[in-house]
Amino acid sequence: MPAAARPLPPRGDHFRGDSIARSTLGLTLAAGLALAGCAAPPAGPSQLQVVASTAVIADLARNVGGDRARVRALLPAGAEVHTFQPSPRHGEMIAGARVILSNGLGLEAFLQGLLKGAASPGALQVVLSEGISARPFVGAKAVIGTDSAAATPEHAGEGNEGGSDPHLWLSVPNAMAYVARIREAFIQADPAGADLYRRNAASYLDRLAALDQEIVEAVAAVPPPRRKLVTFHDAYGYLAERYGLEVVGFVLKSQGGEPSAAQVAQLVRAIRAQGVPAVFTEPQFNPRILELAAREAGVRVLQLYSDTLDEQSSSYVAMMQANARALVEGLR
Ligand SMILES: [Zn+2]
Repeated sequence: MPAAARPLPPRGDHFRGDSIARSTLGLTLAAGLALAGCAAPPAGPSQLQVVASTAVIADLARNVGGDRARVRALLPAGAEVHTFQPSPRHGEMIAGARVILSNGLGLEAFLQGLLKGAASPGALQVVLSEGISARPFVGAKAVIGTDSAAATPEHAGEGNEGGSDPHLWLSVPNAMAYVARIREAFIQADPAGADLYRRNAASYLDRLAALDQEIVEAVAAVPPPRRKLVTFHDAYGYLAERYGLEVVGFVLKSQGGEPSAAQVAQLVRAIRAQGVPAVFTEPQFNPRILELAAREAGVRVLQLYSDTLDEQSSSYVAMMQANARALVEGLR
C-alpha cells in the first residue's frame, strides 16, 4: 500500500500537511464527481488515517471508512488486550493518526501513556463506550471466579474506577452504537467523505441488525435451563443479557499460571452443581484450566471469541456467528 511506504511527516508539520491533503482531496473529489458522476476512492496518503485499539474496533471502522480510510489496529493478532505492552512502533502509529478509536472503560490500560506522549494535538480521540449504559462485571455473582473481577489487574485500567464491564461489543446493538459513533467521527474528521461514510454505515448497520436477529434465533434452539456459560474471563455479561444466557462462572486468577488443584476442583464442583453442558475457552488465553476441569466433569470444551479476532474469524460478523454456532453446539 503506498501509504505504508511513505514516511510520516515530522510531528510539528503533521496537521498542516493533513489539512493540505484534505483540501486537495476535496478538489479531486469535486472533479471526479463532475466527470464521472461518482467519487473514486482516494489513494494512499490522502486517505483518512485511523488507528483503532483492537482488531474488533478496526473491523467496525473499516466497514464505515471503506477505501477512503486507512484503518490500523494497535493490537497485533492474538494479543491479549488487558495486559498488552506497547512498543515504539505503536507510538508512531498513534502519531500519524487523524482519528484514534478506543473502547474505554479500562479495556486498554496500555493506551493512556501512548496517547499522552504521541497523539497529534488535533487528532480526534473517540472513546466508543461513552454514552452507552455500561453494566457491572458479573463478578461475585458467578459461582466461580474472584470475589470482585473489577479489582483484578487486567480489568483495573484508568477510567474504570466503578468497575464497569468494558466488553460492550459482545451485544450486537452495542456494536451498532459504536458504528454510529465511528460514522460521526469520520464525518467530523473528513467532511468531504460524509456521504460515503453514511452509505457505508447504513448498509453495515443493516448487516449487524440481521446478525443480531440470527443470534437471537440461534440461541432460541437451546433449552433455557441449559443456557449457562462458563468461560475464561468475565467478558460475557452483555452477550448473556442480550441473548438470554446466564454466566455461571469463569476462570480469572489463574491467567498466565498453572491452575492449582483446588481451582480445578472448585470449577469441577460448580460445573456439576449447575448442570453446565459445556465450557468455553477464548483464543487469547491458555485453555488449560478449563480443559482440565471439563475432562474431570465430563463436559465438552468449545471456544468463544471475546476481545480478539483470528484467521478463522477475521471480522466482527464472523466472530459473532462463530460464537452463536459454538453456543448452540455446546449447550443444546
Ligand atoms: Zn476482555
